[in-house]
Amino acid sequence: LFAGAVNFLKSAPALEFLPAPTAPEVAFAGRSNVGKSSLINALTNRNSLARASTTPGRTQELNFFDVGEPLQMRLVDMPGYGFAKAPKDVVKRWKWLINDYLRGRAVLRRSLILIDSRHGIKDVDRDLMKMLDDAAISYRVVLTKSDKIKAAELEKTVKAITEEMRKHPAAFPEIIATSSEKGTGIAELRAAVYDAII
Ligand code: GDP
Repeated sequence: LFAGAVNFLKSAPALEFLPAPTAPEVAFAGRSNVGKSSLINALTNRNSLARASTTPGRTQELNFFDVGEPLQMRLVDMPGYGFAKAPKDVVKRWKWLINDYLRGRAVLRRSLILIDSRHGIKDVDRDLMKMLDDAAISYRVVLTKSDKIKAAELEKTVKAITEEMRKHPAAFPEIIATSSEKGTGIAELRAAVYDAII
């Protein structure tokens, strides 16, 4: 899976710039610095396909990547959220863009919500989950940076999040724990992406 070329297609800072909805999409979301770029790069075997965005306000774009083999599909890198210092209008713009995208995108098959293994689910993550529940877009939680905590702690976090996910109408309760650094869980994540498309 993901052995063929994965190419950057385009950035969409607003709805009118979205690419034509000609292939199924899986969207990646998470707080800034959660490890989203690293995970997309690990998933696609690329070193620098997705770039980390560190400047609040410069990150309000949906980035689309074309996957051609073995199945036509697109990965969507959603703008990071939860910057402590993000200006109010930036947060508002993020909400509008994401809400419009989630509600108007028939080809969007699933969202993967990335959560830092050390930090667990925050209220900003719950805000996004609510948007997904309301838009009836199915989603799964993917834990990142699992190499940063002990196995017993990770197990506890997975259990707690699984229980919380059972309460969300659009969530799958199964959690995928990953480490881009160690390669842990990447094969499982690839399978989960294909699962969403097939
Ligand atoms: P993004 O802002 O969500 O795209 O996050 P990045 O992918 O840029 O990662 C943020 C920081 O976390 C960087 O310093 C990465 O090197 C680090 N990081 C990302 N993934 C991992 C991981 O699996 N393990 C460890 N230890 N660090 C990671």
